[in-house]
Amino acid sequence: MANLYKIDDFARLHHWSHIIWDIDGTITEVDGEMSQEVAAKIINLGMLGVYQTFITGRDAKWIENKVIAKMVSFPNFPLVRDRLIFFAEVGCLMLGIDANGKVMKTVDPQIEEHPLKINKNGIRDELRKLVHDPAKLAKFKPHTPGEPPPNVIYDADGKGYEFDPKNMPSCYPYVWSIPKECFATLEKVRTKDGCVKAFDQTPYAERVSRTIKKKRFDKEADIEVLSTAINIVPRVNGRNLGKSWAAGKALYNIWENKSGKAVDLNQIISGTVAFGDSIADLDFTKPMFPANISRQVSQDSLEIIFVGGSHDLPKKGESRHELCKNIIIHATGQGDLAFNWQEDVIHLQPAKGGRVVSEVLDFLKHWDYFRRF
Ligand SMILES: [Mg+2]
Repeated sequence: MANLYKIDDFARLHHWSHIIWDIDGTITEVDGEMSQEVAAKIINLGMLGVYQTFITGRDAKWIENKVIAKMVSFPNFPLVRDRLIFFAEVGCLMLGIDANGKVMKTVDPQIEEHPLKINKNGIRDELRKLVHDPAKLAKFKPHTPGEPPPNVIYDADGKGYEFDPKNMPSCYPYVWSIPKECFATLEKVRTKDGCVKAFDQTPYAERVSRTIKKKRFDKEADIEVLSTAINIVPRVNGRNLGKSWAAGKALYNIWENKSGKAVDLNQIISGTVAFGDSIADLDFTKPMFPANISRQVSQDSLEIIFVGGSHDLPKKGESRHELCKNIIIHATGQGDLAFNWQEDVIHLQPAKGGRVVSEVLDFLKHWDYFRRF
């Protein structure tokens, strides 16, 4: 087997009791589904007393269907559910699971009355008008032979909609994400197989930006262009609610709610490691705290295990490049060849995401790097 990961400096490995997970591309397989192998290991770590916070830009329903539903089937899930915390919309919504297996959702108090969430001055409606709106389109039905095939777009959940090519919105390569409650997300239109096209998103981002400015909303929202979407992110006190903010919130939550402040916040920080696969995940390593908490913090960065490709990392001179020093284990990018005897072909199995995570967890567990606070 190829060497799936590399440890640059063994002396930097130490004990961890809390993991911050990215979901998409980190604990998911190539097909976008969560790796059951990794799920089994996550439950197992929970049995050791390790806390785990899952942070994604996706909506609450997606986490419930794609992640929580898969974990619930493990017999030990009820014993560890209290140590698993899920952040939807990058922490604007916190999900926990109660003793009956019911998902409980809490909106972050800072975002509860945020203009972007409450649709102040109709900002959400205006943004929605820029793109395809699933609520106004007919659901795709397989077409009758003999009739012309319909024009179909697919959303990020794989639902198909028919559109009229004579009546296209100005940002037509995007579709409104209905389940988002706090963020506003313009998802790239997908193919039937869930793939997105790569194209220059600048002209569309500019249109979004003009709408936000016109509504005098530029202090309260920011635009983030991702490979799969344009995200309109709430801003609070001049800061974007991104992965740094969510990581700070995750650490604070473990400190206050889970340890009951019995463990020092600095100990929580040094006992936390993140896993991620993209540039944005490097922000986990720079957790942000409110000013009064910041003063108590002596360690201001987290370590991260990076399971994306080297092209997913910032280049020298780019803004997040200095965060690369927080990477302690990284995927080597070495895939291997597998023979598919049913189709009689040899194909490459790329080594990133869930596959690498699974191996790294085995190593860290074998050498006792995980323990409770
Ligand atoms: Mg990811």
